[in-house]
Amino acid sequence: MSETDGRTLGQRDAAHHLHPFTDNRELAAAGGATVIERGEGCYLWDDQGHRYLDALAGLWCVNVGYGRRELADVAAEQMQRLAYYNTFFNTTTGPTAELAETLAELMPGHLNTALFANSGSEVCDSAIRLARYYWQQKGKPQKRIVIGREEGYHGSTLAALSAGGIGAMHAQGGTGLPDFAHIEAPYRFLLGHDMPEAAFAAQAARALESKIEELGAENVALFICEPIQGAGGLIFPPEGYLAEVQNICQRHDVLFVLDEVISAFGRLGAWSAAELFGLSPDFMTLAKGLSSGYQPISALMVSDPIAEVLRDAEGGLAHGFTYSGHPVAAAVALENLAILKREKLVERVREEIGPYFCETLKRLETRPLVGEVRGLGLLGAVELIQDKAAHRLFDPPGVVAAVCRENLKARGIIVRAVRDTLLIAPPFVVTREQVDDIVDTLEAALEDIS
Ligand code: PLP
Repeated sequence: MSETDGRTLGQRDAAHHLHPFTDNRELAAAGGATVIERGEGCYLWDDQGHRYLDALAGLWCVNVGYGRRELADVAAEQMQRLAYYNTFFNTTTGPTAELAETLAELMPGHLNTALFANSGSEVCDSAIRLARYYWQQKGKPQKRIVIGREEGYHGSTLAALSAGGIGAMHAQGGTGLPDFAHIEAPYRFLLGHDMPEAAFAAQAARALESKIEELGAENVALFICEPIQGAGGLIFPPEGYLAEVQNICQRHDVLFVLDEVISAFGRLGAWSAAELFGLSPDFMTLAKGLSSGYQPISALMVSDPIAEVLRDAEGGLAHGFTYSGHPVAAAVALENLAILKREKLVERVREEIGPYFCETLKRLETRPLVGEVRGLGLLGAVELIQDKAAHRLFDPPGVVAAVCRENLKARGIIVRAVRDTLLIAPPFVVTREQVDDIVDTLEAALEDIS
């Protein structure tokens, strides 16, 4: 344990560090945060020597698992050769150029151009800004409104959070940006559990068309959505919904932005959700799994017709970040993608461990407190419910899942809880035994609270 003046590192941290998405007062009262010291494969160790199976892959990003020597070596090598140079003003670096080309090859259809940034928030923000600029160049500057979804999550910068639909974020200084609108999430468990899936999909997609008509298509720049809403509680689209919202966007001349910050690079057993669901978005946002979290890097993939317009920007494109295409981050991302290919991890998620994970998790659906288990690839959600027969949810929401999450942590398994949904997304190297461990422990935690 690290101590200074009798205080633990966790206590010193709580005194000076404002933690994101954390009740900071409660954290300090509890003696500070858990200090994570080391990672290997799917496991983490804290400074007290406790071991955790990280069933959330960090924040759904450490897809190749912790402790990858090859990524550390690539970073060290690139840092020694060229630690930094910018990609502004007619310069680039080797890894940056190679990464842009690799992404163009990996991502489907006409997504052949990358704009680099550091985080998911920045690329979602950039999509909004550049879409508006695109419409400006097309002679339709009034097309500015962004339509997002309730419970959508696109990051914490002002435009990204305004496009998102997380109530707590809007409540804390987030509202007020003009030209943002939202439609309902296609959350069948809450909003359409008594409807056939096709009818619910049609109704949920129709909400987009109604919103566009209400606002006037001539005023709407884009619709942004995650293929599967992640931080909002792993809300899976009903079958046919994504294709239909894309059709609606095309019919109304509204750009379609697919936020693949979680879903791309194998999480669903495909290189992208666009490929899996047969979509061709105008913009696609990538982050997290691009480097497996080993370096902060993100990319906005831009479709050919839009890239053409952005290339023609008069006086040059007035957009970017100091670290856009950072050579160390790009080198690490390239090696991470090479690992995914070399070890056939995307295929592993699609054909072997993903199906095993979903099947095993599904077992929990027979438990009285479990209303639904949803899963695809290595993304799984366990929706808890107070009264299954009556479809009565917990009131107030969020207490039971939080207890369950803490119980799991005490048993050495890290998951996330959103309202009354437990979210699970282990690294792609998770073994069958580790999947069994996650599900058995979840079962024991549910037993404790029933
Ligand atoms: N978009 C999605 C779908 C996300 O899940 C996240 C983060 O969880 C973001 C955007 C924001 O990414 P970042 O936290 O890297 O800014």
